[in-house]
Amino acid sequence: MPHFKKFSEDKPITAISLPAEVVIPLHQHTGAPCQAMVKVGEKVKAGQKIGESAAFISAPVHASIDGTVTALEPRPYFTGTNVESVVIAADPNQKEPAWPQRDTAGLSGEEIKAAIKEAGLVGMGGAAFPTHVKLSPPRAIDAVIINACECEPFLTCDHRILVEMTDQLVEGAKLIRRVVNAPKIYFGVEANKPDGIKALNDKIAADPTMEIVTLDVKYPQGAEKQLIKATMDREVPPGKLPFDVGVVVQNVATAVAVYEACRFQKPLIERVLTVSGNGVARPGNILVKMGTQIGHVIEQCGGFKGDSIEEGKLDTSEVRYPVFAPPHLVGKIIMGGPMTGWAQSRLDVPVVKGTSGILIFTPKMVVKSEHMACVRCAKCVEHCPMYLYPNYIGVYAETGRFAKSAEWGALDCYECGICVYVCPSNRPIVKFVRETKKQIAAAGAVK
Ligand code: SF4
Ligand code: SF4
Repeated sequence: MPHFKKFSEDKPITAISLPAEVVIPLHQHTGAPCQAMVKVGEKVKAGQKIGESAAFISAPVHASIDGTVTALEPRPYFTGTNVESVVIAADPNQKEPAWPQRDTAGLSGEEIKAAIKEAGLVGMGGAAFPTHVKLSPPRAIDAVIINACECEPFLTCDHRILVEMTDQLVEGAKLIRRVVNAPKIYFGVEANKPDGIKALNDKIAADPTMEIVTLDVKYPQGAEKQLIKATMDREVPPGKLPFDVGVVVQNVATAVAVYEACRFQKPLIERVLTVSGNGVARPGNILVKMGTQIGHVIEQCGGFKGDSIEEGKLDTSEVRYPVFAPPHLVGKIIMGGPMTGWAQSRLDVPVVKGTSGILIFTPKMVVKSEHMACVRCAKCVEHCPMYLYPNYIGVYAETGRFAKSAEWGALDCYECGICVYVCPSNRPIVKFVRETKKQIAAAGAVK
């Protein structure tokens, strides 16, 4: 599959101007939603905890800017639903928080895990699973794998972190290792990031407990089960998790966030993401405050480009950004990568902890067509990296037989999108999988 990384792979990480307001969803992670800890009218400071839950599988959320809470209400979320959110209007006199520094050398595993939990860390590769939970495996761990594959087309933010934040990444990886008491750290990097591999090698070459594994460039090399197989030649059986084979996997951005949570007690209030695609004027790798609406990010990247620069010129003097993208300029906007991300219809959806990218494509780049019946070509079966039967998963979900869809493996599907990519009938199998998971979760069990 083409990489399309050229748009942004050489663009250094840059910050953008602060938005006028941020929208912080109280449920942006796997697990229980947070309860708001602030009221409308209350002043908040960047880094202040504004929502938490007593549940173990959850992660607190924090204000990403100084400001005043203007609303506590459901707001549009990237999955297409509305999620209860804290809306904060920016204080014009923003102050960069003075994060207290501490030496991490003496921190115990439990202290590191507590710092991670307090900082609201979740997997930043897209899964948004609370990190403190993932670092509580019920069995011994032999190795930590740092996932630096970034195998999905267009996305380059992890690549830039590898090159520009190598020290923080390595320190974060060591802290993660201390929590799970693993003897070894592997960094799994695809071969198309030679500058990242060199930067990493310069830091760790002398340490025999850390190793870079250069991996083939192929999708979905960075999916956990594929990564573990490629890096350590261990297979995670269906229905099992990485810890079942003695491995913990963390993404590079999460490892950096672990370092910042331990060293500076800095909560997860900003992240690096990629803005790319042929429909944005200035693609790049951008440091964004959580809760920034994607319209602001796109505007800060020069706005929509259209199929030609001339066509794409926007008069932004009239509006900062509309709620809906202009259809003559934009064929599709995706939050995340093109294979696993979510298409967006609105520009007021906020960036959250799991947002790795915002991709903008012109109308000419997007093929829109209705999906058709399965023609039983079996291409999806041939290509599924989990050896599932996406054809049956799709047909059963489409006809409302979700238990049968689950029987054919919907719950083992990690939504890589390959089946959709190869299907000649344009069948939206990932959509069917997500619906099956939702229905099965609602039912409580497969009946
Ligand atoms: S998205 Fe399709 S190809 Fe990927 S794991 Fe799921 S069923 Fe298999
Ligand atoms: S690739 Fe599409 S048409 Fe072919 S078997 Fe799979 S679902 Fe059916």
